[in-house]
Amino acid sequence: MAGDGSVKLIDEKTGKRTDGRKFNELRPTKIEVGVLNNADGSALIYMGNNKILAAVYGPRELHPKHLALPDRALVQCYYRMSTFSVAERKSPAPSRREREISKVISDALNSVILTKDFPRTTIDIYIQVLQADGGTRCASLTAACTALADAGIPMRGIISGVAAGLVNDTVVLDLHDIEDQKGSGDIPIGYSATLDEISLLQLDGVFTIEQFEEAVKLAIEGAKQIYEIQKKALREKYALIRAEFAGESEEEEAEEEDTIEIVSQSLAESEASVDETAIDEVESEELEEKKTEEVSEVEEVHEVEESVSEIEEVSEVEEVSKAEEAPEAESVSEVEEVSEVEDSEVEEQDLVSDIAEELNDELDDEKELEEDITSLETGEPEKNNESITDDSSESVENETEHKEIDDLEE
Ligand code: ADP
Repeated sequence: MAGDGSVKLIDEKTGKRTDGRKFNELRPTKIEVGVLNNADGSALIYMGNNKILAAVYGPRELHPKHLALPDRALVQCYYRMSTFSVAERKSPAPSRREREISKVISDALNSVILTKDFPRTTIDIYIQVLQADGGTRCASLTAACTALADAGIPMRGIISGVAAGLVNDTVVLDLHDIEDQKGSGDIPIGYSATLDEISLLQLDGVFTIEQFEEAVKLAIEGAKQIYEIQKKALREKYALIRAEFAGESEEEEAEEEDTIEIVSQSLAESEASVDETAIDEVESEELEEKKTEEVSEVEEVHEVEESVSEIEEVSEVEEVSKAEEAPEAESVSEVEEVSEVEDSEVEEQDLVSDIAEELNDELDDEKELEEDITSLETGEPEKNNESITDDSSESVENETEHKEIDDLEE
């Protein structure tokens, strides 16, 4: 609730606020995305001392079903402040303020979510304020829209929430709790930088038109800065996912390479076995060819033998027929045999005559020796003695030799 603005919240000399910020400066803001494993989308925002967690579930079936909308999804937002989120214990029962904040955040998100893509479903957004320090609805809107983006809910744009207020008659950006309570008023807005569209605008306090326009303008500039923070958070989260996916893909690639190697080895082994079987088949074929060749050769030999025997039979038959037809040929052969016998007899006679000549020569030599011996004993001429004394013996011996020759000649 806005105060009367009498409390000095801005240093007149420096122009700085109680926390040291300038009038147009945001509190330190940080967003983490995907902080809850069970939620479809989640985001945790740190905005100054605010710590707010947003979780998105859906689109999913709606219970009770009679609340379902036939043409679009129902966006249900649950803003809750934790009992420990403020200095004094906050009641756990849902307050009227919490219901109001839940409604304005739901309406703002409904303006960008493509609810017609998911008829008869619900998109549930749970916002839990862990620590409150002013401006929790704007920070909750920022966290909720970031969680929707994390959940992959299709939206026209991203909403960024921030408030601008009036403190000591000065328009300042992003009021903290003391400024919110002690200031003259605040204007929380929800703004989509991509759409250049305001989806949430509330006003608490009293503003002049110039102050109002200045506050809205300042809030839009602040929302644009918050939008950059949202984008950075989402990109960081999906960069991690991409890196993990790349690592998994590398592992998968390595596994695929291993499987490829195993498959190639098995293929090579199978090819080798196929080659061996092919070689066996070739060898068996060669053996069969050799067998067939040998069989054919044997058959050819048998055929040749049969043909030879047939030829011999035919020749014998022809000889028989020739013999029957030409008996003169036998007589011719007989004549030839007779002539051969005669030739052999002639040769024998020639041998006998040669032997007889040799014997005559030997006889002549003996005669000459005897004549020499008698001439030496008698002192007479050899020819006379020999002629007188040896006529009888020579005649006897000559007669025996001539008889032998005659026998041989016969
Ligand atoms: P917003 O948080 O959006 O500014 P309010 O203006 O209603 O919403 O609240 C301003 C601040 O007052 C809150 O941020 C919170 O710090 C404080 N506050 C709200 N409700 C309570 C409560 N029940 N008990 C204590 N402090 C509260």
